[in-house]
Amino acid sequence: MVTIQKITMQGFKSFKRKTAIPFPTGFSCFTGPNGAGKSNVVDAFSFVLGIRGRALRAEKTEDLIYGGSKTKDSSDYALVSMTFDNSKGLLPVEDREVVVSRKLNKQGVSTYRMNGRVVTKQHMAAILAQAQIQADGHNIIKQGDVNQVVEMDAVERRQILDELSGISEYDEKKAKAMKELEAIDVKVREAEILLNDKTNTVAKLKAERDAALAYQEMNASLEKIRASIIWKENEDTGGELEGVDRKAKAKEAEMAKLDADVAKLDAEVDGCEKEFSEMAKQVVQASDSVEESRRLVRLQGEAGRLRDKIESNDARMGQLSTMMERLRSMDERLSPAARSVRGVKGVFGTLAELLAIPREYRVAAEVAAGSHMQDIVVDTTDTAVACVNRLKEGRVGRARFIPLDRISSGRGALPAGAVGWLSDLVKFDQRFSPAVLFALGSTACVEDINKAKALARSSRTRMVTLDGDLIDSTGAVTGGFYSKKVAEEKPELGQFLKEKARLEDENAAMENRLRELNAELEKLADREKGSFRLTFEKDKIRLDEKMKAAKAKRADAYSRKLAVQQEIGRLNVQKARLEAKFENAKAQLETLEGKGKKISPKGLKPFVDMNLSKLRSEEHDTVLKLNSLGQINFRAIEEFESIRQEFDEFKQKVDKIVEEKNKILDTITKIESKRLETFSATLDDVSKHFRQVYGELTDGEASLALEVPNNISSGLRISAAPEGKKLLSLDSLSGGEKTLTAFAFLFALKKHRPSPFYILDEADATLDKANTKKVVDMLKRHSVGSQFIVISHNDHMIREADRVYGVTMNEGESKVLAIELPAAAEKKMQGNN
Ligand code: ATP
Ligand code: MG
Repeated sequence: MVTIQKITMQGFKSFKRKTAIPFPTGFSCFTGPNGAGKSNVVDAFSFVLGIRGRALRAEKTEDLIYGGSKTKDSSDYALVSMTFDNSKGLLPVEDREVVVSRKLNKQGVSTYRMNGRVVTKQHMAAILAQAQIQADGHNIIKQGDVNQVVEMDAVERRQILDELSGISEYDEKKAKAMKELEAIDVKVREAEILLNDKTNTVAKLKAERDAALAYQEMNASLEKIRASIIWKENEDTGGELEGVDRKAKAKEAEMAKLDADVAKLDAEVDGCEKEFSEMAKQVVQASDSVEESRRLVRLQGEAGRLRDKIESNDARMGQLSTMMERLRSMDERLSPAARSVRGVKGVFGTLAELLAIPREYRVAAEVAAGSHMQDIVVDTTDTAVACVNRLKEGRVGRARFIPLDRISSGRGALPAGAVGWLSDLVKFDQRFSPAVLFALGSTACVEDINKAKALARSSRTRMVTLDGDLIDSTGAVTGGFYSKKVAEEKPELGQFLKEKARLEDENAAMENRLRELNAELEKLADREKGSFRLTFEKDKIRLDEKMKAAKAKRADAYSRKLAVQQEIGRLNVQKARLEAKFENAKAQLETLEGKGKKISPKGLKPFVDMNLSKLRSEEHDTVLKLNSLGQINFRAIEEFESIRQEFDEFKQKVDKIVEEKNKILDTITKIESKRLETFSATLDDVSKHFRQVYGELTDGEASLALEVPNNISSGLRISAAPEGKKLLSLDSLSGGEKTLTAFAFLFALKKHRPSPFYILDEADATLDKANTKKVVDMLKRHSVGSQFIVISHNDHMIREADRVYGVTMNEGESKVLAIELPAAAEKKMQGNN
């Protein structure tokens, strides 16, 4: 601890002449009459440390300079210097002894010096502060101020601890941080407003971009789906085409073989014919009547040819019927019921399918049969019942069945003049005649409505005209224009019908001719009988058989040829259709590839693995989805990218600012917690000492606490209960009790952080003897490490002091003299011993 060696005053207040007062360690006491200048000595301490104005009890600066008296002149300046022992080097200067001084001239200018060198007041203060010497420290208690600490506002009292704990350092830091916070807060708010705006824009653009991307993706899929369709069609058609081509080639080969067969058979037949004509020549030569024999041979030849032709026509007609049947079976007009029972054992087909109606009777037959045309002909009633059940189960529809075993019908006499019974005019397999008779049997065909009218007078027979008018057995007439369904039939069917009709006509004519020939041949043969040479008969029979066999084979080959021909035609049509389709698919593929897209199945995955119908439904669905996306802003993709970058950069900036703000907040929090920590440590320590010192001084209880726990902005409360008394409010304490409390506080502060010296100007004024004794005891104990300078009128105090100074006033000038008190002298002597 630094100690004060002496204080020297010259021209300061009531001290005109240079007056030096030495201070040994321990406790020194000043005493003297009122107005002698004791308090001026205290002021001298404050003055040299830099205190100004009222605190020095001077209204004007010049009041600090000795003002003179009736007999003495005033001083020109006031000079106070204080000498410290710095042998422990606590003051950060080289010198062992440090003299600080302040000189004030009449102009009010102060000059500070440290060991003779002029220094600024701040410099001096900073150096002294290192040794806990402060101008406004609580170690100098002015006269009448001792109770101040008890009477002051709690917040002011807390500020004493603030200062003591040194938290003002944190306050400065916090104020700086708060200022930074304020500045950054403005920035953050501005940035956040901007960010909010930008976020909205970006979000809107992002939604648009996402839609555009979805569109692009879907569109790419659609293109792939479509390319896959084309690819597949191309592939499928190619494959199908190859298959058809293969089949056609096979058929051609078959055809060539058949041609060869036919040629062979032709040759065989020709050979037979040649042989026969040779034979016939011989017969003729042997005949009695050459002319007749020749004629016989010629006629026989013609009859043979006719028979062949008729046979060939019949074969062709058979084929035509089969083909027509197939065509008709494909007819969509066939009722679902008829279609569903097709193929059931015992079901022959609809009546329409079973009838071959010559062209001229077709209308009449259709009208006469009416809905019966769609009746289904079956073998037995059991089959009919089975079919009905089948339709029911399948919920397919209804149909009328004509069982051949049960159906019956009858008819009267054909009206004279009628063309015939319709059932005789149409052609059918005789098996089906009960059905045909049932549907058409009782209807006569007449030429026209006039004829019918005439006939109807004498007959009640049901009649139908060639153009479709109907007079039924009751006489009711139905008629008018009949729209021929025949015309709606497929062109092939028309052609087949035409060809068949032509063949029928041809056959009818040839059969007539054959009948004539047969009749003539019979006559000739009768006459020839007997003239044949029997030897040739045998050969002729053999030849006939051989020829018949060859012809039969040839006819068979012809019919196979026809069928093959037909198949080739069909395959060629199919081929042409497939070729067109293939070309089309290929062209589409080429168009696609022409757009710079090399089409490969790998690139078309996964679509290329789907079948065509799945692909088409995918295509349909994708188009629907695309349409559902509505209007698309494609520019959003690029715009979003550029704005996002900008946005990200901005956001980073904002984040940085926010981070900076958080750092500041963090710093503030740290400062505050450090501040609280520091303050609390000080409070705890001072409080502990206060309780202890108060107990020693009064045997009572006292404590220090913040008004609001942990809130270091709240005031510092003193609670004191002198011995035997309950806790009282400070206001209700007596003056002496207040002084004791104040002393306890002062000593508590000293224990927490001692000052090198303490000055107490009449602080014991209100104390009784007993309490003065207690205080003096404590002072003495405490003055071991620090210097105590006490001004007192109290004898006990004066007696107990280590050194006593008397202050007197003489003609307006104060003087100080050391007084040797008997007790002190005694003590001194004891000390010397
Ligand atoms: P008390 O015991 O009553 O407290 P004290 O000894 O403390 O008395 P001080 O207050 O130190 O007395 O001295 C006051 C005296 O100093 C006054 O009489 C006053 O006239 C005198 N004084 C103050 N300033 C000056 C000055 N500038 N020049 C001359 N005398 C002054
Ligand atoms: Mg005084």
